Amino acid sequence: MTEAELIDGQATAARLRQALKEDVQAFEAIFGVAPGLAAVLVGEDPASRIYVRRKGEQALEAGLQSFTYKLPVETTQAELLELIERLNADGRVHGILVQLPLPQHIDTPEVLKAIHPDKDVDGFHVVNAGLLATGRPALTPCTPLGCLTLLRERFPSLRGKRALVVGRSTIVGRPMAQLLLNADCTVTIAHRYSEDLPLLCAEADIVVAAVGVPGLIRGAWLKPGCVVIDVGINRVPANDPDQAAAGKSRIVGDVAFEEARKVAGAITPVPGGVGPMTIACLLLNTLSAARRQMERAPVQSALRPLEAEGCV
Ligand code: NAD
Repeated sequence: MTEAELIDGQATAARLRQALKEDVQAFEAIFGVAPGLAAVLVGEDPASRIYVRRKGEQALEAGLQSFTYKLPVETTQAELLELIERLNADGRVHGILVQLPLPQHIDTPEVLKAIHPDKDVDGFHVVNAGLLATGRPALTPCTPLGCLTLLRERFPSLRGKRALVVGRSTIVGRPMAQLLLNADCTVTIAHRYSEDLPLLCAEADIVVAAVGVPGLIRGAWLKPGCVVIDVGINRVPANDPDQAAAGKSRIVGDVAFEEARKVAGAITPVPGGVGPMTIACLLLNTLSAARRQMERAPVQSALRPLEAEGCV
């Protein structure tokens, strides 16, 4: 039995970052300033701290300017909105991201709405969501954009493919479905109340799983030869019982990987599949946002794939 090809998100993300670096240099040569990315972190959530640090490091490696704002957990909504207002007005900052989740006393939709849509490099603002939903150029959420980029390497044309998106969050599932629809796929969106998920999977040429349930999608459900994009990041106990007893854990996706790789034509591993693409796309979105904010900026080579999807 042949095994599915592994879709290497690390390698694709590294290529994107390299292309981006060259484009950032060209941008700086034209405009005298490098695109700037501001990251706002409220509180001490350990995973969020790691994400924000990585985003800052990779932004600097790509030649972007990076500004990080670490605010205490007791920061009020008014204080956070005031910072966002300042960043909206700051000419050095072309992209703003507010790391989620925010503490419970803060109204997340209100905060996301306060980011200027042209600086909304996470693509969560309702204006960008609406533009994407109506098939118009938009700053697009980074994880779905990364998934689409991986799919494009496999299928230069996605026209007519049957795609199943499992999960309907505003961060992953919904924008993923919009991107696939804009790419002329026939799209089904499944969620926690969908009936007969195995049947929906059996019909799909492409399965994108963004659920948060370890190993939910079973190998036997899949159409032979399909392409599986596993967005899930789930922490489960280590395989080794002694290590598990010692509290050691490992990361798995939403797809039962060992089963699925015996049936699928290609599959993203977890980790090493979608994850690295998310930050790479955030950096691309920052260049894209900076380009929008400067008049007459030419579309640069790293942005060609985004341009093809109508995302710049
Ligand atoms: P979410 O909790 O906001 O949404 C989960 C979705 O899954 C919901 O729409 C829900 O209806 C659906 N769902 C839940 N149980 C289901 C079931 N049994 N059958 C079908 N659908 C079901 O989660 P999210 O933010 O979209 O994240 C999903 C997963 O992707 C998580 O594991 C998260 O950690 C991961 N994630 C990874 C990246 C990355 O960069 N790789 C980025 C974002 C999220």
